[in-house]
Amino acid sequence: MANLPGSRNISRLKKWQRLFVNRSLNMGNIKAIGFDMDHTLVVYNREAFEALAFRETLKKFIASGYPEELATLAFDPNLLIRGLLVDMDRGNVLKVDGHKYVKVAYHGHVRLAKDVRRSVYNIESFKAGSLLSVDTFFSLSEVQLFTEIVDYMARNPNKIQKSYREVYDDLRRFIDQSHADGSIKTHVLAHPEKFVRKDKYLALTLKQQIEAGKSLFLLTNSSWEYTNALMTYILGDESDEFTDWRQYFEYILVSSGKPGFFTGSQPFYEIQTKTGTVKPLAGPLAERSIYQGGNAKLFQQLTGIRGDEILFVGDHIYGDIIRSKHSVNWRTLLVIEELGTELVKLEALKRALSDIRSKMEEREIADEDLQVLHSKLRWQERLMAHSQANGEVKKAEYIGKEREKLATKSGRLATRLEKLDFEIKTMTEARAARVHPVWGELMKVGLERSRFADQVADYACLYTSAVSNLRFYSPFKRFSSVHDMLAHDF
Ligand SMILES: [Mg+2]
Repeated sequence: MANLPGSRNISRLKKWQRLFVNRSLNMGNIKAIGFDMDHTLVVYNREAFEALAFRETLKKFIASGYPEELATLAFDPNLLIRGLLVDMDRGNVLKVDGHKYVKVAYHGHVRLAKDVRRSVYNIESFKAGSLLSVDTFFSLSEVQLFTEIVDYMARNPNKIQKSYREVYDDLRRFIDQSHADGSIKTHVLAHPEKFVRKDKYLALTLKQQIEAGKSLFLLTNSSWEYTNALMTYILGDESDEFTDWRQYFEYILVSSGKPGFFTGSQPFYEIQTKTGTVKPLAGPLAERSIYQGGNAKLFQQLTGIRGDEILFVGDHIYGDIIRSKHSVNWRTLLVIEELGTELVKLEALKRALSDIRSKMEEREIADEDLQVLHSKLRWQERLMAHSQANGEVKKAEYIGKEREKLATKSGRLATRLEKLDFEIKTMTEARAARVHPVWGELMKVGLERSRFADQVADYACLYTSAVSNLRFYSPFKRFSSVHDMLAHDF
């Protein structure tokens, strides 16, 4: 077996090579590891892939009668990040913190002023459920196109006589058409090298798990034809031993209809790859055969593997992770690809974070001092009133003077606090802007957790930036979570 690093080496790993633990997990108890395909095993060259989806969808807008000027709209792979919410009725894109408070809002390319944002979203309790969540990479190009059209509508009133909601409905329809009519897939399959990035450690990573006795399976919503072409491209010739990508996986489940796969009761169908015909499954799942449809409960029954013995690896917080954990109690590893580049940036910004933290400590001390001064002032006020009432004129005068001194001191301290608040805010914003100029960190809003971070913490047992990071850990590793500790344990 390939050499596996010990724990000493793990501590030397860079952050973007690590697995992070939300819930303790003993890999020794895991018998099967399932993998999603798109954006999990198959890593797309995002700029090329999403630009393609953007352009193909735009063509359909213009063909259906939208202004031809829209053809000049440009794709920007970095405009949006995952975890944002889309208010389709108002045409706004929002970043929300873990308490569902809208912290940043954009209408097209225009940032909403603080008072507008507050009056629209934050006065009454805000229902994130009524909004669309930007969960997948596919939805990044979709929502960017929506943002561009909203921006166009704001700049050119009356040129598009539709509500934002109607524009979004059209957008959804055109995207579905682009997928259904093969506009996107045809390009990808003709030149996978342009759209897909090979991970040279993927084959080794999978083999380590196989050699450790784990059953691997593929569980994808993509069709057999698309799956076969892409998996052949990424794993077809990566090993002398495995000359067909199918040799890595005991079970291959395509067109699975996740998240319905985890909650529904659809039967399995076997695909006859030579003829392309499909027949209902009779009997057990045969190894290396290709199945479509199906459901998680039946999969467990047929393979004899319990839900908590399965680790599922996917990139979709809802379709892969939340449902699989909730409905069938599978253990989960979320792949957050963009965390890789973000962690590199954050590593370079460590100093900026410690500067912010020391300013915050300074602020906390100044704030405590101010509270003490305020209570002293109140005490002196009462003392002075008491002396005056008793006719102790001199004593009252003396207290009055002392009080003035304290009041001046407290005024100075209040000004200092305001200055510190401003400095902390400026430093925090500058740091976030170096991660992403508009939206800041994926998992944070300012220094607090973002809604996306909360979902990751609640549903993913583990998370990492790439599947191949598994190779740094033993297939029997006990991952322990600091979340099992309480605040007083530190
Ligand atoms: Mg996926």
